[in-house]
Amino acid sequence: MTAGPASFTYEALPMRVVFGAGSLRRLPQEAERSGLRRLLVLATEGQRPLAEHAAALLGDACAGLFTGARMHVPVQVAEAARAAARAVDADGCLAVGGGSTVGLGKAVALETGLPVIAVPTTYAGSEMTPVWGLTENGRKRTGRDRAVLPRSVVYDPELTLRLPVDVSVTSGFNAIAHAVEALYAPDASPIVSLMAGEAVRSLATALPAVAADPRDLEARTTALRGAWLCGACLGATTMSLHHKLCHILGGTFDLPHAATHTVLLPYVAAFNLPAAPDADQALRRALATDDVPRHLARLSAGLGAPRSLADLGLTEPDLIEVTAQAQAQPYANPRPVTEDALRTLLTDALAGALAP
Ligand code: NAD
Repeated sequence: MTAGPASFTYEALPMRVVFGAGSLRRLPQEAERSGLRRLLVLATEGQRPLAEHAAALLGDACAGLFTGARMHVPVQVAEAARAAARAVDADGCLAVGGGSTVGLGKAVALETGLPVIAVPTTYAGSEMTPVWGLTENGRKRTGRDRAVLPRSVVYDPELTLRLPVDVSVTSGFNAIAHAVEALYAPDASPIVSLMAGEAVRSLATALPAVAADPRDLEARTTALRGAWLCGACLGATTMSLHHKLCHILGGTFDLPHAATHTVLLPYVAAFNLPAAPDADQALRRALATDDVPRHLARLSAGLGAPRSLADLGLTEPDLIEVTAQAQAQPYANPRPVTEDALRTLLTDALAGALAP
């Protein structure tokens, strides 16, 4: 049995990962190792206390604090962060938080070239990818640039102990979605398939334990390790229909990022996996099931996640725009996406037809 396609191209991304409970304390060494002496610490306002703690750990290597990070990196926020970096003469950014904060660090890096150190506190996985995103006038632009890839990533599971259960679950499914689409990506490879299988197994095991006891450090460690692998899968491959749809639903309809991934994943899996038998097999093994889409739907519903796009605020008339945008530009997908098929998929997801 092989893990992944028989012929492939694989490009490793140059970055360093420091993982383990308490590893936040290693921040000063990580900064020094990267030659950074004047870091601007980035966070959301809600995570200011953690940002201040990180700043205190950095001591003289902290040049300032910017706590304006917001979902989907509005261009104005990116400009304000760049101005803050200039004002304190920063030589790099330390992004402490979820995908929104890491995304802000990348937006600063994109135009200034300032390197980023990331301390992720959700399971989104952005810290492992060279993908940046910026939102302007209701449209999110994304691109790939090696310059935005964090130089060093410090994963400390202790920082996730206070991540609320609902966010932990949807963020975990956001991560699983990266692994699922990596398994049938046009640039899949054996190493990515191995990471994806292990990542899905880790998160599917850990999330129920996290939901039962959010302060279970062992479960948090397993979940974060899974999220790291999912992020690595995302960084190494090209995503397909699922990520395309989530991008449209978030960018144009302002649906919450992680929850949208959670609702949609079983429907896209039901559509794509029959055309991707190797991916289906890998997921069946990882989840110990013979029905991957239903297993995913049951797992997320059992953990209290939203079940339908209607639950997230989408309406039937919106489907016309979603379908039009999803058909506007071609992208890789294991199964051809016809307008009819897309309409059926979205109608089912709108109603939550697959939920147990
Ligand atoms: P987020 O970063 O917006 O975080 C959600 C909320 O949870 C925020 O208010 C944050 O302050 C709070 N929070 C984060 N960690 C916490 C913790 N440990 N304890 C308590 N509260 C905490 O959400 P997200 O889902 O991590 O990121 C979503 C964003 O990331 C989207 O914009 C998405 O497009 C982007 N993203 C980008 C990539 C990429 O490769 N470029 C990959 C994944 C996600």
